[in-house]
Amino acid sequence: MENIESNIAQLQEILTEFADAKKDCTLFVKNAAERGDIIIGSFCQYAPMEVINAAGMYNVLLCGFNYDPPIPLAETELPSNLCPLIKSSYGNILGKTCPFAFFSDLIVGETTCDGKKKMYEMLAELKGMHVIHLPNIPDKKRSLEAWREEILRFKEALEAQFHVEITDEKLRKAIAVQNIERSQMAQLYELGKLDPPAATGLQMRSVLVSEYFMMDKQEKIRKTERMLQLMRENWAAGKGPYAPDERPLRILVSGAGLDGVVNKTLAVIEELGAAIVCYEGCCGIMNMRRPVDESAEDPITAIAEKYLEVPCAVMSPNHSRFEQLKDTLDEWRVDGVISITVHACNPFDIESKAIGDICAEKGVPFLHVRTDYSPGDEGQIRTRLEAFIEMLESNRGR
Ligand code: SF4
Ligand code: SF4
Repeated sequence: MENIESNIAQLQEILTEFADAKKDCTLFVKNAAERGDIIIGSFCQYAPMEVINAAGMYNVLLCGFNYDPPIPLAETELPSNLCPLIKSSYGNILGKTCPFAFFSDLIVGETTCDGKKKMYEMLAELKGMHVIHLPNIPDKKRSLEAWREEILRFKEALEAQFHVEITDEKLRKAIAVQNIERSQMAQLYELGKLDPPAATGLQMRSVLVSEYFMMDKQEKIRKTERMLQLMRENWAAGKGPYAPDERPLRILVSGAGLDGVVNKTLAVIEELGAAIVCYEGCCGIMNMRRPVDESAEDPITAIAEKYLEVPCAVMSPNHSRFEQLKDTLDEWRVDGVISITVHACNPFDIESKAIGDICAEKGVPFLHVRTDYSPGDEGQIRTRLEAFIEMLESNRGR
């Protein structure tokens, strides 16, 4: 008993470190910049982390998750009917309220959605930018060569600007580390398969985001390993986040741009007693399960192949995302799917129709919530989530 109490306390300590990672990273990045270390800011899952890490540089996430002050400021230059993630990211850089952008020596963007592409053109006036051109056909034959060239061009740009050499050996080491991180994230999602789940959806999200803000990779890997072990042990002892006889509704969350709406969506779902057992999309399980091939002769090609398979709605057509969703619904025995999209995110909003159709085919109830980062719709969203969860509960009672 003493042991389990100590395990619970240790797990809480690690989870608090993950939750505080972004805050704690500010000082780390400032000190690193003062030491002359190179900081690369990025926005997206398509930014090839392995190349940045192989160059011995730090990669920080610049996506804005907050409304005020960045969004009102961004709207002085950008259209107000633009995705809040884009406005928040731009506004934080324009108003110098993002310390990570402030200390970044270079920002890497990628041509995903139109809003981002155009925002990067304006960002280039404020900071040094390198834009990687992403082909939007997820078909190896038609896109791999061009995409590989873009990743190579990025590697060469880092080498030329910062006078470093990124050898194949360094790339291979960085690939191995990144694969461990992905595999750990996949293992965390796997804990959602248990009944009741051994991790909450909010815990999963917090660990996911911390990837960009825990700069000592080995330390992060060690902590995550310990966290996974503690979660498994606590669950086996009946001390997981849910009581052993609890059977919370099992929710799959789909969508993008969610980190700015956690409190009014993800937190409410779990506060209402349901469990987010997995995520779908670029940060979801399928992306984490797919490693970069460590045995490939050419590491750049291996990186390009993996990133071309990121299941993002900017790809067209996006059949693999839909096929993957079917498997995830079965594997995680999902009771309901909630698609959360932010205003003006056309790619994900439009694909929500296909997600809903797949759910209908599989007999899984589906809810689509559209929101943005501004306050005001919390009550309305809560009401819709409550109604959906009540409906799932009554289905279960039948
Ligand atoms: S949803 Fe697509 S564009 Fe947005 S971060 Fe993920 S991969 Fe990048
Ligand atoms: S949430 Fe949608 S519109 Fe916004 S940056 Fe991501 S893909 Fe683009």
